[in-house]
Amino acid sequence: MTQPIVAVRGLTKHFEIGRGQVVHAVDDVSLDIAPREIVGLVGESGSGKSTLGKTVLGLHDKTSGEVVFNGESLPAKYTPGDFQRYAQSMQMIFQDPYSSLNPRMTVGEIVGEGLRLHSDLSRTDIRDNVADWLRRVGLNPDHMSRYPHEFSGGQRQRIGIARALVLEPEFVVCDEPISALDVSVQAQVVNLLDELKESLGLTLLFIAHDLSMVRYVSDRMAVMYLGSLVELGPANRVFFAPKHPYTELLIGSNPEPDPVSERSRDSTAIRGEIPSPVNVPAGCRFANRCPKVMDVCRDLTPELISVVDECHADRLVACHLYS
Ligand code: SF4
Repeated sequence: MTQPIVAVRGLTKHFEIGRGQVVHAVDDVSLDIAPREIVGLVGESGSGKSTLGKTVLGLHDKTSGEVVFNGESLPAKYTPGDFQRYAQSMQMIFQDPYSSLNPRMTVGEIVGEGLRLHSDLSRTDIRDNVADWLRRVGLNPDHMSRYPHEFSGGQRQRIGIARALVLEPEFVVCDEPISALDVSVQAQVVNLLDELKESLGLTLLFIAHDLSMVRYVSDRMAVMYLGSLVELGPANRVFFAPKHPYTELLIGSNPEPDPVSERSRDSTAIRGEIPSPVNVPAGCRFANRCPKVMDVCRDLTPELISVVDECHADRLVACHLYS
């Protein structure tokens, strides 16, 4: 692999919630992301995907572990100066395009805010830049004096994308950027991100529920379960030939049928509830729901190990079936 732009090393994020209870949101996750790569991150609600993305960007303090960006180890806890410094290189596109936009600011003010805070550009140059970005995301620059409520959900997400990319960051975390949108506009937003990735040389961590969409947009797919990474590999290989029993069930229960896949999507739904991240089970965290569970699974935590698959693709899988 080429030198990663982002290297996540043993990253852990726990939240103390009182009475000695701790939420194990992210546990010991390691992941390299290469320049211009899109890594799709999937898993059920409560698997820790969003917390991982926010901790990588410094929006949550790190409990332990490290994030290395362009060879520089990032602080465990950001100061206001750190946010100022890293905002130009790393940004986030949020899930809900409406609540993430200030309703009292015009679209021009929203998209231009990053330039006002982080650049020396004149008002005229900021305005020109904003107009250019609105055009690039498929919006009419003449509408920059309008407010967020005057736009549709898909248009608001385009505004959120323009706001995140106006500083031309190298790395962007997209936190479920399409899940609040109608199916008809999801593909448009994904195609837009794909185009911008090519034209800007962006590197993306793309968090989503819809595995078909993640497969379409991503180079590699990472699967999280209860705070841990359980599988990682080329997106097509993970999607069409999953190794981990959880990945297999997750793809089987994906609500969007994939016309290319021959898999029956409703016959293998995941059963049972994801355990509480406050009471993380010993051994394999998926054991209580796994149809292939063995005695060893309840005692021994499986390591994420390298597995070469039938197509000679490098995969990482955390399951005793491969140890
Ligand atoms: Fe299932 Fe055991 Fe593999 Fe966990 S380690 S996924 S319980 S087979």
